[in-house]
Amino acid sequence: MLLKIPFAKVDCSGNEWIYVQEVLNSGWLTTAGKTHLLEKQFSEYVGGKFACAVNSGTAALHLALEAIGTGPGDRVLVPSMTFTATAEVVRYLGADPVFCDVDYATRLVTPAILKDALLHQPEIKAVMIVHFGGQAAEMETILPFCRSLGVRIIEDAAHAFPSRRRGKWVGSFGDITCFSFYANKTITTGEGGMLVTDNEALFKRCKVMRLHGIDRDIWDRYMSAASSWEYDVIAPGYKYNMPDVAAAIGIAQLEKADLLRQERERCAKFYFNNLADMDSIDLPEVRESMADHAWHLFSIVLNERSRVPRNRFIELMAEKGIGTSVHYKPLHRMTYYRERYGLRPEDFPNTERIWKGCVSLPIYPTLSDEELVYICKSIREILG
Ligand SMILES: *Cc1c(COP(=O)(O)O)cnc(C)c1O
Repeated sequence: MLLKIPFAKVDCSGNEWIYVQEVLNSGWLTTAGKTHLLEKQFSEYVGGKFACAVNSGTAALHLALEAIGTGPGDRVLVPSMTFTATAEVVRYLGADPVFCDVDYATRLVTPAILKDALLHQPEIKAVMIVHFGGQAAEMETILPFCRSLGVRIIEDAAHAFPSRRRGKWVGSFGDITCFSFYANKTITTGEGGMLVTDNEALFKRCKVMRLHGIDRDIWDRYMSAASSWEYDVIAPGYKYNMPDVAAAIGIAQLEKADLLRQERERCAKFYFNNLADMDSIDLPEVRESMADHAWHLFSIVLNERSRVPRNRFIELMAEKGIGTSVHYKPLHRMTYYRERYGLRPEDFPNTERIWKGCVSLPIYPTLSDEELVYICKSIREILG
């Protein structure tokens, strides 16, 4: 029997409809009470002091870099093994990304890679730490090292909600942590993002720049007793605020975030139990407990022993009705970054090894055990 299994699937079976209806009935569709509530609940969840909701994870990354004062001539360390958003925001501000390799088994930037990059390039002003796939980087070592050098830490946590490292939630570590609520992320608002920080000055800057550089947001103006028409513009800001319709979906998603994560962990455990004996596949390495991992991705690597090349494997899986994806074609292979920065594959040996064989398997809460059996059986048929 042929099953049809998409790579990703959104689960909106909770209170999404109810909260969206509340927003529609309220007549207030832009940033207002629901967005404030989502900010409050999200910051409480991850244990960060301040949260600022925006209309994408990319917007959060952009605001974060702007808030720490990134500008032309600055250099920001970015792993090549990430989505282009992590690097493009550096260019938005006229600064330049400096690309680094990652660890093969975890796809994370390790303290060793970081030390090597920062000691050889002392002009680097900030680092973008990507918690790849939902596994947190070694923040207990990375943070003190960066701080000792005065290097700022922005975390791209687009994959990492909810994730922990040494018992602490991602969102409670670096200078600013940026989450994404894009449609296929672990919780979603359709499009959306969240920035979390303990630093009040950075928070205030992000909040002002989120809405045109205006010193009071629309909701404050509406709620406050002072005259509602008057505002000042203190910078040429952006239009990055989250609408309440999106926040309503986010509140419903946040309510069941633990449950959704547990279900993804069930899928990951299934893959580990059923694929571990295959010597043509390298499974992702889990450094802490399975429960500390957000399990946004389950990305395997077809190694040198695989009799089928990666692209053919993806075609054969598709013929069996199974959607897969690739995370990622590295940035050093993308025309813009390669040409502008003269990047060479040999400078990214681990990233290259990952890229040659990486395939992400379906992993989402509604993926049934029956479907997981079918996926694993299909992989065995293809790889032999
Ligand atoms: C999804 C993603 C982003 C961007 O998030 P958007 O909400 O789509 O803007 C940034 N970085 C990584 C690693 C991502 O996976």
